[in-house]
Amino acid sequence: MTAPVRPAVPVFARRGCRLKKKPPIRELTWWAYQGYRCFACDRPLRRGAVYCGWIRGRSGAHVLDVEVWSCP
Ligand SMILES: [Zn+2]
Repeated sequence: MTAPVRPAVPVFARRGCRLKKKPPIRELTWWAYQGYRCFACDRPLRRGAVYCGWIRGRSGAHVLDVEVWSCP
């Protein structure tokens, strides 16, 4: 993901998504898993997305760890 050039909204929490508890990895949508949408509300991320770190997951021998993003 590239850094936003000029946020359309203030960078501080608008909906508080970034403060939400991260769900188990199997509850993420495909879009959130790919980093296209907010992990909390599933809205498409545009400018000012906030990096929220990793959600750890496993399926048998496969590591499913993923980095997630939220609304500003
Ligand atoms: Zn959100």
